[in-house]
Amino acid sequence: MAETVCKTLRQYSSGAIPEADRKKLEEIAEDYCRVKNYVYQRYGGVGSLPILYPGYTVQNQMTGSGLREKMGLPSVYFYCAVFDALGDIRAWWSRVKTGIQEAAAKNPGFSAEDLHYLRFVLKVNNCFAAILNHTEPELPEGIGEKYRELAGSVDAVKLDGYIRRQARKRQKKLNTDRAEGFSMTERAYRYGDHGIYIATKEKRKRVFIPLTDGNSYKRQLYVRVPEPEGRVEILVPAQVRIKSHEDYRNETGLSMGMQVMLTTDGGRAYGERLGEVSFRNAEWIREQTKSYRKNRKDNPGRKKYREQKRRREERLHAYINEELNRFLREEKPERVYLPKLQGKGKAGKVKKYNYYASMWQKGYIRKRLEIKCREHSVELVEVFGKDISAECSRCGAIGKKEGGMFYCPACGREEEEKTNAAQNAKKRGRRGRHGEGGEPEESS
Ligand SMILES: [Zn+2]
Repeated sequence: MAETVCKTLRQYSSGAIPEADRKKLEEIAEDYCRVKNYVYQRYGGVGSLPILYPGYTVQNQMTGSGLREKMGLPSVYFYCAVFDALGDIRAWWSRVKTGIQEAAAKNPGFSAEDLHYLRFVLKVNNCFAAILNHTEPELPEGIGEKYRELAGSVDAVKLDGYIRRQARKRQKKLNTDRAEGFSMTERAYRYGDHGIYIATKEKRKRVFIPLTDGNSYKRQLYVRVPEPEGRVEILVPAQVRIKSHEDYRNETGLSMGMQVMLTTDGGRAYGERLGEVSFRNAEWIREQTKSYRKNRKDNPGRKKYREQKRRREERLHAYINEELNRFLREEKPERVYLPKLQGKGKAGKVKKYNYYASMWQKGYIRKRLEIKCREHSVELVEVFGKDISAECSRCGAIGKKEGGMFYCPACGREEEEKTNAAQNAKKRGRRGRHGEGGEPEESS
């Protein structure tokens, strides 16, 4: 059985593209955004609920609207935008339904039958649509019977009223003013000459974007239009087969840090330059902000700054990912033990901006580690994180930390601080797996 995971691959233009070409992409992105807003506005209400699935009615009505001709947008972009917006509307409704269901579950006034009925009508789109529109639901035979049976066992009028009130409370106008990119299907592009040709609003005129890699894909892509002098980014959704490694047999305890990204229980470090790079980035942001404030009057915008910031972030992320890959490759873990994130860190000693920058990266690193473990069939176990760096990994006593070292007053152990914490992570994780108190066995 070949299991797969969803993954977004990225392609980049080799350098900035000519301004005229960038403008052409921008035009598409702006129209794309306009089409989406049109769809949000026209189909975001309860009246459109019955036609959201499977969406052909919307597609036909949009064709008939004349909007596409008026904008002169190639149909491939137009329909991508329509289905993109439709997807957002559907996602939004399903959040509404989940919200109603959660609210109902917490309401002590509902009986088990009530909740059963509510779950049912929230799940069947036709029922939900009919309730919000005060009509009778049109249902296929089997489901119709089930519906009448459930409705007969409760006060359906009252419950329908509840659903309508809850839905009204969650009403929202969908809108986007971010014209930062667009989706396109194969009809809009062609790979070739170590780049990609993309259709524009001008008939038979394509923009050529040289790419840094020679890969080509046949599926719906997302093009992110850069700020001036920025690189084009193409997002490629991909199903990646989960890899399983026979030789990954180790159990590894980890400790995450702001300076060194990961330290293992064996004392090995991955991402040793994390602290240095984050610090340089934070310094740079501070400098930029200072000079921006000083020259605000003659500063037309911060596009260049944002572009450079994005590029720095990209480089940092590339580094993080490389080091995570190296960690898996070299440690060959079957199972990884990682302390849970603690609610509040100690911000006292660290400068504020730096602190937040690194907190934010912690989230990114964890997410990437999670994804990579999944891709390589490595089990990631989160362990209780409280006091994990304060306890001695040999005897469990609370020790002293000084200059990156850990000292235990009870048993005299001296160990690098992060290594000690990683050893505790492994100890706690294994104890959790084998039952409190029991001696951990060697995994076979
Ligand atoms: Zn000790």
